[in-house]
Formats: sequence, C-alpha cells, structure tokens
Amino acid sequence: MDLFQRFEKAFMPNYGVPPVALARGEGSRVWDVAGKEYLDFIAGIATSSLGHAHPALVEAVSKQVSTIAHTSNLFLHEPEVLLTEKLLDLLNAPAKVFLANSGTEANEAAYKLAVKYGRREGRSYFVAAENGFHGRTIGALSLTGKPAIRDQFGPFPIDVRFVPYGDADALKEAVTGDCIAVFLEPTQGEAGVVPPPEGYFEAAREICDSTGALLVADEIQAAIGRTGHWFAHQADGVTPDILTLAKGLGGGLPIGACVGFGDAGTLFEKGDHGSTFGGNPVSCAAALAVLDNLDLDHVKSVSARLRGGLEAIGHPLLKGVRGRGLWLATVLTEPRSAEVQRAAADAGFLVNALQPDAVRLAPPLIVTAGEVDAFVTAFPRILEEASK
Ligand SMILES: *Cc1c(COP(=O)(O)O)cnc(C)c1O
Repeated sequence: MDLFQRFEKAFMPNYGVPPVALARGEGSRVWDVAGKEYLDFIAGIATSSLGHAHPALVEAVSKQVSTIAHTSNLFLHEPEVLLTEKLLDLLNAPAKVFLANSGTEANEAAYKLAVKYGRREGRSYFVAAENGFHGRTIGALSLTGKPAIRDQFGPFPIDVRFVPYGDADALKEAVTGDCIAVFLEPTQGEAGVVPPPEGYFEAAREICDSTGALLVADEIQAAIGRTGHWFAHQADGVTPDILTLAKGLGGGLPIGACVGFGDAGTLFEKGDHGSTFGGNPVSCAAALAVLDNLDLDHVKSVSARLRGGLEAIGHPLLKGVRGRGLWLATVLTEPRSAEVQRAAADAGFLVNALQPDAVRLAPPLIVTAGEVDAFVTAFPRILEEASK
C-alpha cells in the first residue's frame, strides 16, 4: 500500500485523500514524497508565513523545545509574556490577550466573551455574514454562514442571524439594541478571498457603536502581514472590540489569540476560560520569530508584482484577480478551479481550488520577486492545460 492508500484506510473520510504528500520544505519550495519540487503558493492555508524551515523559526523552536516545551496555565513563562506584549505593541490600543491553539478556539473565546457581555446587558442574538467562515467547533460553527457545513450540526445555543457580506444597509437593519455582537471577517477568506466594498468596516463600527453591539473581527486568515499590514483592520482605520488571530501567527506552529479591546479585555473573570496547551512556550517562541522576521515592505512589493503580473495575463479562462496583499483569488470564467489546481501541481506549483470558480494564492510572506515571476510566467500555460 502506498501512503495515500494507508491514509485512506486509517483516517476518517472528512478530508478525502489529499492529492500530494509533502515530505519537506525550504523557503517557498516544498518536495513531495517522490522528490518532485513545487513552489508553494498556498503556504498551508496562509499559515507558513516565513515559508518552510526558516532559520530563525527553526532556531527559536529548537531552542525553546530543548529548554521547556510546556508549562500549562498553572505556571507562566517568558515567551508568552513577550508575545502578548509584542502583539499589544503592534495593535497600539489598550487591550488584553487570551492565547489558544487554533483559529476556532480563538473564536470560541470571542464567543464566550460575547456571551458574558450579552448576559450582563440582557441582549439575545448574534449577527454574522452569509458565506463567512469562523471554524468547526460548535460555537464558531454556529457563526459560520455556510449551511452545508453548519446546519446538520445544529441546533445551536444562541440565535445567529446572517446578513449578505458587504451590504452595510442589511447590517444596519439586522443589528438592534438586542444584538450581542457582530462577527465579521475583514475579507472573507474561505468564501473565495472576497474583500468588502470600501467603507464596509467603518459602517460596521458605526452600527455597533450606535446599538451597543460588540464588533468582532475574525482576522484569523487576514492578520500578521498577509494583507501587507500587521492587521487588516488597521488598513480600514477601524478598531474592533474583539479580534481573533491564528493561521499566520505561529508560522506553522499551532497558536491562536483572542484580543479584547478596552472593556472587552476584562469580561472574563478568573476561572471563566482556559486551555492546557494554549500559549505553550514552543508556539509562542515560533510566533515571536514570525513577528521579528516579517518585512511588510517586502510583502507590499511582491504582492503588487504578483497582482500586476496576473492582471496582465489575457486568457479566456481568467476573469480577474481579487483580494488584498499576498492573499489573492484568481477568478475563473468557468468552474474549473480543480483543473487549475491539478495543472498547477503538474507544472510544479501548489495552489488551492477554493471555490469552483476561484483559485486561492497565499504564498509564504518571504516569497521572492523571482518566485512570483516564475508563477506568473507559468500561469497562462496552467490555464491553457486546465481549459482542455
Ligand atoms: C481558518 C479560519 C478559521 C478556523 O481556524 P482553525 O485553526 O482551522 O480552527 C476561522 N476563521 C477564519 C477566518 C479562518 O480563515
């Protein structure tokens, strides 16, 4: 039996069998178990921000694991303090942090903070966006606006009302003085890397301010340099009440964070929430290495190069490019994203067939101009192959 057959035999069928088995990586390159080389333009779903085997990440993680790998929350450690201080520094607003292990757990913390707020204020429902994605655990899933993955696991404990993403009028109508919180992605990731219209987040902030609902920004995919800014809301000039982070923060090691600004930072009382692994020293050391080694000017320049290069391609299958920073979707004129993903892999590039008509590109944030050029040069032939 090969590795794929063994995977299929041993694993629950929820992922299907992935098409490529990776063995190792270096920078923006990865190699599969047969030794075939790829340029990685998906980075473990916008997560391997420093690419693969970055020397600073390797050193930080190796040093930490050989010093102390785990303390639990019964004891504190310096890496978690350094990391939260650094995050607060970058956020540049009064806030407090809870550290988790993943995106969905960061959102569970946000959900529970909001529940505390709702009980205190006598409010009863949440608002979230259609097609939004917030995670797979029950609280986060209840906020996820995709009936296909949500509805079969309901009913959920709190009423969530869904509004079309990007429609400020619909949001205004849905959010009353009885609304606890509004959960939104600053750009919808899993829905197809869909940025909202200009001014949507500012409108959401105003609507929450005027009704007293909390604004929760799920930046699990958007933050930590992905858009060319540390945090996407900073580009929108809006500060949420609660912010959640994960994916790119640990550069591939599991970590999530829930940030409460102002009063939202002190809603939890002692004993209200916790995680045995959350904020473990190794993941914190990795996140510190990420924050110390990202170069936002580099992200801005290579993302402009990637976008410009893709937009200059004239091909009947390519309708356009959308997204922000190094977080793009190439939008197709036909539902052939699976064919594009396959043709790209054959040509030595890993991309993600995110929606039937959208292919996600999220390379490591250290991707070079030369690597971007290699992808842009190869893409017309990939589209041609996928059209057959
Ligand atoms: C990936 C993602 C999540 C869930 O993160 P996990 O680490 O997979 O639990 C939640 N929200 C957004 C916006 C995401 O992209």
